[in-house]
Amino acid sequence: MSHIERNLIAGAWWEGAGSLENRNPSDLDDLIGHYAIASPEEVADACAAAAEAQQQWRYSTPQIRADLLERIAQGIAKRELEIATMLAREEGKVLSEALAETRRAMQIFRFYAGEALRLSGESIASVRPDIDIETRREPIGVVGLITPWNFPIAIPAWKVAPALAYGNSVVLKPAELTPGTAHLLASIIHEAGCPAGVFNLVMGQGASVGAALVDNPHVRGLTFTGSVPTGRRIAQRAAVDMKRVQLEMGGKNPMVILDDADLDVAVEATLNGSFYSTGQRCTASSRLIVQASIHDAFVEVLAKRMASLKVGHALASDSQIGPVVSAEQLAINLRYVELAAAEGCEVVGGERIELGTRGYFQRPALFLGASASMQVSQEEIFGPCASVIRVEDFDEAMLVANGTPFGLSAGICTRSLKYSREFRRQVQSGMVMVNLATAGVDYHVPFGGTKGSSFGPREQGRAAAEFYTLSKTSYQFAG
Ligand code: ADP
Repeated sequence: MSHIERNLIAGAWWEGAGSLENRNPSDLDDLIGHYAIASPEEVADACAAAAEAQQQWRYSTPQIRADLLERIAQGIAKRELEIATMLAREEGKVLSEALAETRRAMQIFRFYAGEALRLSGESIASVRPDIDIETRREPIGVVGLITPWNFPIAIPAWKVAPALAYGNSVVLKPAELTPGTAHLLASIIHEAGCPAGVFNLVMGQGASVGAALVDNPHVRGLTFTGSVPTGRRIAQRAAVDMKRVQLEMGGKNPMVILDDADLDVAVEATLNGSFYSTGQRCTASSRLIVQASIHDAFVEVLAKRMASLKVGHALASDSQIGPVVSAEQLAINLRYVELAAAEGCEVVGGERIELGTRGYFQRPALFLGASASMQVSQEEIFGPCASVIRVEDFDEAMLVANGTPFGLSAGICTRSLKYSREFRRQVQSGMVMVNLATAGVDYHVPFGGTKGSSFGPREQGRAAAEFYTLSKTSYQFAG
């Protein structure tokens, strides 16, 4: 077999036990490479190395950590086109989106380089005489990071950067569909001079490699982004050992269009939120809740714009929508397209298409005439598909918007101050967008959801310190 890309454990590259093939979903004849599967012993070694490295790293100065993160940011910037090309090849995001995501990762490392210097505690007077109290934030220790395929560099970045900034050591288990981008990031972190064992990469399947990481006794914190069933399993396993957990899972994000909306703004926000990145975002708008009086006009313009989106090879400069990530995901999407018709929707688009290369190409889809309770309006699909639900007024829109087990992101298009304010107050979600797509967030503010979408403290921004650090309260008597 050809060269195998290896795992990074205790500062050295290890061959693993077997390998996984990485192929381009835009062109199945394009073999990207072979990536090592970490053996159970290697996962144990990575966690032990992280625990050992922790002894020094947790006491490193903020300057040392800030400098490392800054060098990682520079390493990403220097290789941004190489990373973005890998990302587009293995995940299927179009190159412009892949480049934007890569730059986002660079900005995240830079942001946390600054945050490493800003971590602070409190000094509080005791209720007793001559005693001083101080709180400080300390690292958790070894943190296990389990990441999905849909943001192959941004999500690892927004977990690795705060983990390192606050003095933790890391074992990263990236998604098996997108090891290439994570491997490039690992090389950059290694070459930036990260001390051996402070950052480790273990690639391979979730059920074996991921589960071994979750169960390892050195690991004191687990941060996961992925599906609800996996998140639930990780939380259950973590509870047995009292590990700290942070979970980001699915969404069924509503986009409400009221009849006073600016039609162009509404259509742009919806096209972006529902279909860009092939709908493969946990913040995608998968339920379009449209007031009856604007419904037909909105659907007409949206359907026309949707039909003109260019579906194509992720590296082709005129492509706007890349392929679906895998055969399994394409089969799921196509099953939901069939189900939408069976449940009584008029389906526009959604068919698989053949292009010049063997890839998983699918046209974006609208499920017209959907009701709020249909399966296609309740379950996360994770493809370029959106249910269109007609409602009479704001109150009904609000009920429908809140009527799923999820609560990640929610959007409304309106020019009414009253309704946008009410929506921001009443909607059950971690993020609210007014006249903006539900997807597409800033990196320096909290990210996360409510209800079944998230569990544990928020990610990103300064909020990340709540997960990656523990508070210690110390008392000192002056005498
Ligand atoms: P998706 O549907 O996005 O693939 P998953 O939840 O299956 O969602 O995958 C997200 C991440 O979780 C991936 O890195 C995957 O390998 C990992 N994973 C899957 N199953 C497990 C498990 N039982 N234990 C730990 N990690 C897992």
